[in-house]
Amino acid sequence: MDFLVLFLFYLALLLIGGVVICICSKTHRLKGLVRRGAQIFSYIIPECLQRAMRRFLHYLFHSRNYTFVILHLVLQGMVYGEYTWEIFGYCQELEFSLYYLLLPYLLLIVNLFFFTVTCITNPAIITKANELLFLQVYEFDEVMFPKNMKCSTCDLRKPARSKHCGVCNWCVHRFDHHCVWVNNCIGAWNIRYFLIYLLTLTASAVTMAIVCTTFLVHLVLVSDLYEEAYIDDLGHFQAMDTVFLVEYLFLSFPRIVFMLGFVMVLSFLLCGYLCFALYLAATNQTTNEWYRGNWTRCQHCPLVARVPSAMPQAYQNIHSHGLWSNLREIFLPAFLHYERKKKEW
Ligand SMILES: [Zn+2]
Ligand SMILES: [Zn+2]
Repeated sequence: MDFLVLFLFYLALLLIGGVVICICSKTHRLKGLVRRGAQIFSYIIPECLQRAMRRFLHYLFHSRNYTFVILHLVLQGMVYGEYTWEIFGYCQELEFSLYYLLLPYLLLIVNLFFFTVTCITNPAIITKANELLFLQVYEFDEVMFPKNMKCSTCDLRKPARSKHCGVCNWCVHRFDHHCVWVNNCIGAWNIRYFLIYLLTLTASAVTMAIVCTTFLVHLVLVSDLYEEAYIDDLGHFQAMDTVFLVEYLFLSFPRIVFMLGFVMVLSFLLCGYLCFALYLAATNQTTNEWYRGNWTRCQHCPLVARVPSAMPQAYQNIHSHGLWSNLREIFLPAFLHYERKKKEW
């Protein structure tokens, strides 16, 4: 019983932690807290260990590497391995529909395809050859993206909505963010693949959670477990209750219940992130623009400790031209979009 409470506490903590990080990442509070935490640790941890940790964190988050790509595939492999090894067989015994059981595999194939495409597609890297073309695609708003700016690293003129990626060391047109899970920037040419990848990953986690829950509920109903009785610590007979039932299932199918907890937390986090990504797509904003725009809009907010001086005026999104137009801009093949823009000039 203690273990079950600890497990539920761990799941709740994981979920709350994820949500708090998402909310606090908009403010400088989190950065301040991290800095203060690092200061405290610097008194406790030896200097050589601190240097090694800094090098490791720099390698992990500030250089291109396949650590998170491998972790992604290992986690996906473990979840699908458990599904194939135990759940699929049990569900077949309980006469679940085969189409229902094969759905997670179909989602996996589509997801892995778009995962690979997102990893290997050029995100729209700005070079000397395409610099002029990109300069004419979007209007300069003179607040977030002023005209005639140059990237000091690449020595190229900066088109509106572009940004230099510090991890990959190149400028990307319509830069969204650098994603460690695909080890690539997300920009104008791979955002559509990234969104489909995110959608199928969320659908896959939700489907897996539904199949696991259905299996456990079905098992309880078929075996009439809720009608059984158990002997408590004082030796008295007690009617089966929900807590004891969950504990019983946890002890009988530990891997399945643990996996269910994992995919449920993952489903909540992915659903939240998918909603945010779809909101950005529908309003024609990039993560970079949303973050920097909110920063200026919130300059009077007490949660923000520092007032930015680079953008004195409030940022207005000038690129949104209605829902369908915004979605078409993302999902229409890139060359068609630029050809259409060319005709308008
Ligand atoms: Zn650059
Ligand atoms: Zn990058």
